Amino acid sequence: MNIITRKFDTLVIGAGGAGLRAALQLSHADAKVAVVSKVFPTRSHTVAAQGGMNAALGNVTPDNWHWHMYDTVKGSDYLGDQDAIEYMCRAAPDTIIELEHFGVPFSRLENGRIYQRPFGGQSQNFGGDQAARTCAAADRTGHAMLHTLYQQNIRAKTHFFDEFFAVDLLKNKAGDVLGAIAYDIETSEKIIIEAKTTLIATGGAGQLFRTNTNASINTGDGMAMALRAGIPLQDMEFFQFHPTGVAGKGMLITEGVRGEGGYLINCDGERFMERYAPHAKDLASRDVVSRAIAIEIREGRGCGSNKDHVLLKLDHLGSDVIKKRLPGIRDTSLTFLGIDPIEEPIPVFPTAHYTMGGIPTNRNGEVVVPMGIGGEEVIPGLYAAGECACASVHGANRLGGNSLLDIVVFGRAAGNHIIDFLKSHHYHQILADDCIDEALARLERWENPLHKQDEESNNSSESYSVPQLKEELQQVMEEKCGVFRTEKVLAEGVEKVKQIKDKFEHAYITDHSVIFNTARVEALELENLIEIGLATVISALARKESRGAHSRVDYEIRDDESWMKHSLYYMNDHRLNYKPVHTKALSVDTFPPKERVY
Ligand SMILES: Cc1cc2nc3c(=O)[nH]c(=O)nc-3n(C[C@H](O)[C@H](O)[C@H](O)COP(=O)(O)OP(=O)(O)OC[C@H]3O[C@@H](n4cnc5c(N)ncnc54)[C@H](O)[C@@H]3O)c2cc1C
Repeated sequence: MNIITRKFDTLVIGAGGAGLRAALQLSHADAKVAVVSKVFPTRSHTVAAQGGMNAALGNVTPDNWHWHMYDTVKGSDYLGDQDAIEYMCRAAPDTIIELEHFGVPFSRLENGRIYQRPFGGQSQNFGGDQAARTCAAADRTGHAMLHTLYQQNIRAKTHFFDEFFAVDLLKNKAGDVLGAIAYDIETSEKIIIEAKTTLIATGGAGQLFRTNTNASINTGDGMAMALRAGIPLQDMEFFQFHPTGVAGKGMLITEGVRGEGGYLINCDGERFMERYAPHAKDLASRDVVSRAIAIEIREGRGCGSNKDHVLLKLDHLGSDVIKKRLPGIRDTSLTFLGIDPIEEPIPVFPTAHYTMGGIPTNRNGEVVVPMGIGGEEVIPGLYAAGECACASVHGANRLGGNSLLDIVVFGRAAGNHIIDFLKSHHYHQILADDCIDEALARLERWENPLHKQDEESNNSSESYSVPQLKEELQQVMEEKCGVFRTEKVLAEGVEKVKQIKDKFEHAYITDHSVIFNTARVEALELENLIEIGLATVISALARKESRGAHSRVDYEIRDDESWMKHSLYYMNDHRLNYKPVHTKALSVDTFPPKERVY
């Protein structure tokens, strides 16, 4: 086999906030680190994060990490692991200061302190008045963070493989993960990256749904790689729909708009959130606001000629606030809708946004899988962090501003744990040939000669183009696994996604589209998305209760007795297993489940 092999202490797959924060920790400790990214690092999806990152600094309203923890546990609908949530919320204030010292240009208050805006689900004193906890760099916080982290990594001499596509994880005979096989998107060259430790930080899978806020690169590759390596995915039924995507298009209008005082109205001009969440109103948590919008539309109070959206009103904030605090939102609205929000409201609709589930990890970022009855086992040397991982700090519903926090806190924690691991793991091990062969076979399907049947069979009903199948998958997921779900519709969804998987066996990429290797990449991405789609819809069909973002019309009530547990989906036999929620916090009293009202 004639493939270039490179060896590193750690392979980080993904150059978003999670991957870059982990890599920086490792490079500072003189570990030899490779970061592989399918796009140039500063194009990673973290760059799109708008509203900000949560930390109980108390710069605007009194605050405390313990209140942040309470809000996060409540926001998760009690499915979040309380030890991991405590760890994240306690670490948040120091994490912000550290980012500031790295050079993140946070917006400022008059007194020079870091600016903080109110976001959904934030409270003072365990459910009291609204808190302002989200640290922001205008409405371009992710951009500021990602560029800063990238620059710091360049300074620390992290090694980057830019525009390389990671295809699959590589293992030794014992099953330990020891790096990955990757594909140079520009040249088609394959490379084996051997590593003593591997961190998956490949982000979410928003491309599963037709209307979404995500970049086209968010195809769940790392999660699918984990599935193929025999690792289950946790809590995949919980997919967040953000209440305010641009209607019909999907681009995000940050919750920061409502944090600054914007609010939603229906066709009667009514501020309808006052009925659904009398206390928090438009700043109730995202699952609550998304459901309220869907109900308003279903009951005929939507806006526009088709009555298919509601309006986000912010003109009353005044042009100074909009220009200073929400310049990106104004740009988006002007560019995609021709609407200036200084003068007119923005049409919005709930849009697929965030993957709450993912690769199961503990709070060190180590990948953990169930073993025996009720036990768990760490997979040595394998880590995951960021949106592809499930620590689980978001449970059934993520609070806005908690993902940027998650990626930096757990990216750093994984980096620290890897540094310790490397102290007792000095040598590279021998890779098993069969996993290399399997990964190569997946790649070769799309290589010269292309996986393209002759023209006749391409035109037959038996073959499907990759873009055509992707569209079908996104449509099915939107129709069968959306904001409101039922047994019948989900069961149809499972069947349809299985059919799409079968059709993928007959998928082709056309001659002209392979002039650029991106067509091959799109085929590999679709294969990944299909597996994530199955994981999502099968897990959703099985959960017979409503909790957080998983809203079952046929099981309307949250059922703590039967369902306060994490799901684990295995790819090979579509099997589901369950494990208990960590209800015990690290050092404080647990927050027991109670009715969730805002
Ligand atoms: C529009 C928008 C706005 C948001 N705003 C906020 C906000 O204000 N506050 C907040 O807390 N959260 C926000 N979020 C969520 C948050 O931005 C993301 O959850 C977070 O940035 C994900 O970071 P990550 O490091 O896990 O992954 P990403 O930033 O998505 O990075 C993934 C990386 O993996 C690489 N990759 C993926 N697959 C492969 C492969 N096969 N081979 C090689 N490389 C691969 C990519 O190239 C990329 O470098 C927002 C999300 C969206 C969509």
